Amino acid sequence: MTPALRVLIIGYEAVPFFKCGGLGDVLGSLPKALREINVDARVIIPYYLDIEKKYKFPKIGEYSIVFGGDIERVGVYESGHVYFLSNRKYLASINTRGRNKKIDQFAFFDLAVVEFSSFILEKKKWYPTLIHCNDWHTGFIPLLIEQRIPTLLTIHNLNYQGWGSREVLDLLHVKDEKVKELRRGVPVSEINVLGEGILHATAVSTVSPSYAHEITSNYDGDPIHLYLKRREKAGKDHGVKGIINGIDYATWNSKYDVASWEKGKKKNKEMLLKSMGLSDRPTFCFIGRMARQKGLDILVRAIDKILSKDKNAANFILLGSGMPAIEKMVKKTANTYKDNVRVELSYNEEFAHKLYAGADFIVIPSRYEPCGLIQMIAMRYATLPIASKTGGLKDTISHGGNGFLFEKESVSGLVNGIKKALAIYQSHSHYKRMVKSALQTDFSWNKSALLYKKLYIDILNS
Ligand code: ADP
Repeated sequence: MTPALRVLIIGYEAVPFFKCGGLGDVLGSLPKALREINVDARVIIPYYLDIEKKYKFPKIGEYSIVFGGDIERVGVYESGHVYFLSNRKYLASINTRGRNKKIDQFAFFDLAVVEFSSFILEKKKWYPTLIHCNDWHTGFIPLLIEQRIPTLLTIHNLNYQGWGSREVLDLLHVKDEKVKELRRGVPVSEINVLGEGILHATAVSTVSPSYAHEITSNYDGDPIHLYLKRREKAGKDHGVKGIINGIDYATWNSKYDVASWEKGKKKNKEMLLKSMGLSDRPTFCFIGRMARQKGLDILVRAIDKILSKDKNAANFILLGSGMPAIEKMVKKTANTYKDNVRVELSYNEEFAHKLYAGADFIVIPSRYEPCGLIQMIAMRYATLPIASKTGGLKDTISHGGNGFLFEKESVSGLVNGIKKALAIYQSHSHYKRMVKSALQTDFSWNKSALLYKKLYIDILNS
């Protein structure tokens, strides 16, 4: 029997085809979990040239869209329940430079997604009952689809909004009156794609209950909060629902269990330290994008406070890439503490796996964290998190239970957290109790997939 819930999930990345961060993990794993509970979940991402070169998926057809004054062809490729949209001019690569280029690129993608629903009906007699958009890249879809199909917009990070010139509306053939942001009687030359998505979507959600609370209650002067408030005032739905992400235990398959983790950790740690030329000490890692959000400035100050007092206290291994100024700052710390600190400035899946498996602790000093997957992955690998008390970190880590929490943006808080971790590490029984608790915490999609299913049903019934 075909399930009544047919959901098209849209984003700019999905594991295993293309990944920049946590959204890629989510788009790779949530649809699988939904399909297991009888939701016909299908995914659309762009067919970047890198994906095309690697996979060479079969083409199932093509259609045309009118973008600005041009007629553009969109090729459709398929692998299982994932569709890929191809266009050499707009969707060949994500690394588009130039202020409006990315906005134009995703305006094109969003328009192509809207037209895809007619294509797929004709081609496969399949039609989505709901479109699930993710982040600003998909923010034009709710505006373009005009309620013909209900939409859910999930915010994975409110700080990436897609600001650009309103000229993009001409490319989409959208009249100013339809754009809610521009309706305030003030001449506005800019458009905020995420803001527009928030105002037009049938429902809005985000990736943890705490982040949902933070973005609807902390007003920091960013106009995006006004859009969230406007939804609330219009009584459009029941506020912004926060559903915590899960992780895919098939991808993050540590093979550690409560009985065996010590042996595995010892072996993996030895290999890791040997490959890095580090002595046997308690080992802390960092894995993530080198963006201001991730709080590396807080981490390097804490490392300095710890290692300037005791050179033998710990090792720190940092993996990530991003802003040149942050990369320079962490390199400087590695140069200062040559015996204890290692930095790998790249995106490296294999090394990330080795770090999760071989480190004792993972430090997550984020200024804000909508959900965060690294703490969940780390716990699966018997690596205890020391994290800022914010967003999804707060919702997944219990202080003193499966990890440690400290006040966000506090260097002394992080230093104390690291010291506490070191003390517990020495008292073996307490440490083992915490690792056991981390290993036993359920971060699978089981619960959250059901919550998404319920949300889809609520949207369709509203
Ligand atoms: P965000 O989505 O903000 O980047 P998350 O914690 O939600 O952060 O997810 C980050 C994901 O990207 C994790 O799967 C993590 O392992 C991976 N990751 C981040 N940086 C790197 C890197 N430099 N090399 C390999 N994997 C990385």
